[in-house]
Amino acid sequence: MKDMNENLEHCPQRDQAGHEYATWQVVLDNVPYAVMGMLGAVILSRWNGWAAGAYAAYTVAGAVWIMWFVCPFCHYYNSRACPCGYGIVAAKFRPWGGANRFAEKFRKHIPVIVPLWIVPVAAGGVMLWRSFDRTVLWLLVAFAVDAFVVLPLMARLYGCGHCPQNADCPWMIKQQQVGS
Ligand code: SF4
Repeated sequence: MKDMNENLEHCPQRDQAGHEYATWQVVLDNVPYAVMGMLGAVILSRWNGWAAGAYAAYTVAGAVWIMWFVCPFCHYYNSRACPCGYGIVAAKFRPWGGANRFAEKFRKHIPVIVPLWIVPVAAGGVMLWRSFDRTVLWLLVAFAVDAFVVLPLMARLYGCGHCPQNADCPWMIKQQQVGS
């Protein structure tokens, strides 16, 4: 592992993180994403069991995708300053890629997981349109609150707000533009 990550010490911003997350905080940070995956699968299960299984698998694959393609380019790679722990897990199977290409990697790979937010809403909407079902409606409301309110709020307040590379992050730049 030392060979894989020998250039890490040359990342100056990594040392400026100034905060390391405890294990319980890392677990807490993953809760909204896990809840989104479970609720999305439950919504899709009202239509088709295979679709529900595929969505659950996609949720896991999406997390691995980010660890594989984005985290190796982040200042928090292999660091407990990563709020969700992906950076630590990524270091187990991917070498450090340097921090200069983070924005490029982020823009390129985040769209891969965006359908996770869209598919349950679209499928649930179609189900409601075809035949109103109160359970589906409440599941959709719970999904929307978790995926579109809790998850982004937690990311913004809990992790991204303290990130030393938020000036390079397309997500944070967009949020600042919306807020200004
Ligand atoms: S802060 Fe985000 S991009 Fe950086 S290592 Fe953690 S999960 Fe990966």
